[in-house]
Amino acid sequence: MEWDSPLYSAVLESFDRTAAIMDLDPNMANRLRTPERALIVTVPVRMDDGTIRNFHGYRVHHNDTRGPCKGGLRFWHDVNLGEVAALAMLMTLKCAVVGLPYGGAKGGVRVDPFKLSNDELQRLTRGFVQSMFDFIGPESDIPAPDMGTNERTMSWIMDTYSQMRGYSVPAIVTGKPINLGGSLGRRDATGRGVVYAIIEAAKVLSMPINSGTRVVVQGYGNVGEAAARKMAKLGASIIAVSDMKGGIWNPAGLDLKKVNEWVKQNRFLEGYPEAEAVSNEDLLRIECDVMIPAATGGVLTEELAKNLKCRIWAEGANGPVTIGGDRVLREREDIFVIPDVLANAGGVTVSYFEWVQGLQAFFWSAKEVNQRLYEIMKKAFHEVYAVRQNRKVDMRTAAQVLGVQRVAEAMKLRGLFP
Ligand code: GLU
Repeated sequence: MEWDSPLYSAVLESFDRTAAIMDLDPNMANRLRTPERALIVTVPVRMDDGTIRNFHGYRVHHNDTRGPCKGGLRFWHDVNLGEVAALAMLMTLKCAVVGLPYGGAKGGVRVDPFKLSNDELQRLTRGFVQSMFDFIGPESDIPAPDMGTNERTMSWIMDTYSQMRGYSVPAIVTGKPINLGGSLGRRDATGRGVVYAIIEAAKVLSMPINSGTRVVVQGYGNVGEAAARKMAKLGASIIAVSDMKGGIWNPAGLDLKKVNEWVKQNRFLEGYPEAEAVSNEDLLRIECDVMIPAATGGVLTEELAKNLKCRIWAEGANGPVTIGGDRVLREREDIFVIPDVLANAGGVTVSYFEWVQGLQAFFWSAKEVNQRLYEIMKKAFHEVYAVRQNRKVDMRTAAQVLGVQRVAEAMKLRGLFP
C-alpha cells in the first residue's frame, strides 16, 4: 500500500482494534483506514550557492466529514507519505476527541531545516505553498506548525497564499505571529494542554503535584519546553530533559531558567554544567512520576516500555510508541497513559481559536484563550476517562473509541454521495 510506514502500521493497528471493540460498520472502518486524498509535489529551490535542489513535499487529507481539514506541516529529514498519512489520521481523531469542527490533515517536506539558510527556507516554503495552492484554503485545509516549522514559516505561508489570492487571508494558516493575526497563547498551547491533561490525570489518580513530583521531558522544543515550564510552575521538579543530540539529568531538579539561558547561548543542551549527560534512550529509563515524550514518533520500543518507571506517560509527541511498546503499555496497569490525540490536542485547539478569531477579526485576551483551552482539555479528558471506565479499555483505545464514534456518527448523518 502507498501509505506503508511504521507509524501508519501502528496507527492502523490501534484503529482496527478500536473498530472491533466498537463493532464499527465495516464499510465505515474501510473508509477510515485510508485517507481521502493526498498531494505529492516536488519543489525546486534555488540554493544560496546558485545550485537548484528538489525537495519532496506531501499534504494528506485524511477525513473532512466534520469540517475543514486541519493539521500541521513538518519540515524534517525523514518525512515520507506514509508518516504524513498516519499523522493526518491522528489529526482526524484528535479534532474529534476534543470536539473541534475539523477533519484531519498533515503535511511535510523532506528537508533538514537546520541545514538551510533563512532565505533558502523561505524560498522552499513559498514554493511549497504555490504547489499546494489549490489543495489548501481557509475553508478546506488550514496548515499549522509542527516539527521544524514555526511562526516564521507560518508568516511566509500566509503571505504567499495572500499574494496569490490578491488579498490578505489570515485564516489560511494558524500559529502565526500575534501581529499577523495569531492568537495569544498559541505558542505555549500544546505544552500547556499536556499539563492540563496531566492535572486531570493526577486528580483521578489522587496523586498530588508538588515538589516531590519528578518530571522527565524528552524533546525540549516548542512542546516540551512549555510543558516543562508549566509543570515547574505547579511546583514539580524537572529532573531531566533532552533534545536531538541527547539529554541532561539532575536528580535534584534542573533550574529551567539556567537551562533556557544555556540553550539560547549554545543552541543545544549538550555540555550544560549542572547535570549529567544522558542519551535519549536512557532518558526513558529514568525513574520519575511524569514522563512526557515530546520529541519524535516511535521512540518507545517494546523493551523500553517494559523498563518504563513512571506513573503518568503523557504524549506531547504524535505517535511516540511503537506497536510493541503500545502492547506493553496496555498491559502495564501501573502506568497511566494520556495518549497523543488527547494529551497534545491543546495545540490544535488554540489553532481553532486563532482561526475563529481571524474569521471574526475579533481577538480574545490571553486569559480567555487559556480558560477556554482548560475547559476543552478537561472535558475531553473526562469523556475519554469515562469510556475507559465503562468499556474497561486502556486510555488510548478509549480516546480512539470516542474519536471514531464522533466521526462515524457524522459520516452516517451526511450519508454517501452520490
Ligand atoms: N501540529 C500540531 C498537532 O500535531 C498542531 C496542528 C494544528 O494546530 O493544526 O496537533
